[in-house]
Amino acid sequence: MTAVSSRISGATNGAVRPVDASVIDDASFARLRAMASLPAATMDVPFVDLGAAHAAQRDQIDQAIAGVLERSDFVLGAAVEAFEQAFAAFCDAKHAVGVDSGFSALELSLRAHDIGAGDEVITAANTFVATVGAIDNVGALPVLVDVRPDTYTLDPDRIEAAITPATRAIIPVHLYGQPAQMAAINEIAAAHGLVVIEDACQAHGARYRGARAGSLGHAAAFSFYPAKNLGALGDGGMVVTDDPEIARRLRSLRNLGSTTKYQHDVKGFNRRLDTLHAAVLSVKLTRLDADNASRRRTARLYDMLLADAPVQTPRTSRDVEHVHHLYVIQADDRERLREHLSAAGIATGIHYPIPIHRQPAYDALARAGERYPVTDTAAPRILSLPMYPGMPDAAVAHTAGWIINFYSG
Ligand SMILES: *Cc1c(COP(=O)(O)O)cnc(C)c1O
Repeated sequence: MTAVSSRISGATNGAVRPVDASVIDDASFARLRAMASLPAATMDVPFVDLGAAHAAQRDQIDQAIAGVLERSDFVLGAAVEAFEQAFAAFCDAKHAVGVDSGFSALELSLRAHDIGAGDEVITAANTFVATVGAIDNVGALPVLVDVRPDTYTLDPDRIEAAITPATRAIIPVHLYGQPAQMAAINEIAAAHGLVVIEDACQAHGARYRGARAGSLGHAAAFSFYPAKNLGALGDGGMVVTDDPEIARRLRSLRNLGSTTKYQHDVKGFNRRLDTLHAAVLSVKLTRLDADNASRRRTARLYDMLLADAPVQTPRTSRDVEHVHHLYVIQADDRERLREHLSAAGIATGIHYPIPIHRQPAYDALARAGERYPVTDTAAPRILSLPMYPGMPDAAVAHTAGWIINFYSG
């Protein structure tokens, strides 16, 4: 197996994190803090605002769609390859293969590495159900490992204990937009000859010690579900890898096991990324870094406004550049806080309310003697606040204000 993570340099350590350009000036902050201390009765604050995101690029998106209609190359058309090249370059990776969802990106990555029945795959206990579903779908056994209490990402200190002779791969999840502790995870993987597949479905554009999510393991899976940091007008996904053989297998697997028409060397699936989505995603990719910077600014503003509130704001490892797919706090009396915010017009989410090992579909994973204390403790306390690029400062102040007044009575 090829070595992983040549791009992660130990020498750079956390020092490469760029200075956050989103610093809020004192006058603006004073104004927003005053707003938060006496928020309006109600203000409509959506959880995400996809309409605003598209309005800014509406002409280019319309042109991209018109171009596909003119060429009518709807399946594996020119725009798919163009977007694959642009996205691989964005991730500092050599190859990208477009698929129809993040689920397929994970599943086909496992299949391309010949992982299936009889194999075990380690992943984070606190993740979206699709990570575990993809492992299950190839016939492998998902082995859940608890997360770190500060960052909610896979806890490297708990991985070795979960490794057995059947373990073939680790899928770290860059949850909420924060890359997992990849140096430690890759070291364990290398020592045991394991494949590392990043679940980067929430982390488009994030960095770990200066290297992009997507360039941190043997392969990485991305989702373009509309609300993700880079979202299509429907479902879509991508696998990114430096390995030309894995890329070749993925191109075949997504397209019925064929790279030459009507010639089938392996059994495959129909999991292609639609040309229309690829054309739109190429347009939206040009704004991704700016959108992520906007999310970081919003996160910084929440951090500052909630500094004295009795809630736990998100922790960011000094090794990462976070892209804040979600802004998740921990709060006492979460359900009543949620109702209180809802009454003030503020939409919130919970990611995720029921841990996977407590879901009826996956309760077989809760093997005797296994405990996930961090995941179980967090589940009833976590609350995702509104977060999207271009979120107005006034909406952030309104949300923070109603959290503060909930606890001050
Ligand atoms: C969204 C997501 C997926 C699945 O992506 P889909 O495109 O919805 O199939 C997988 N893992 C994580 C962590 C996700 O957030």
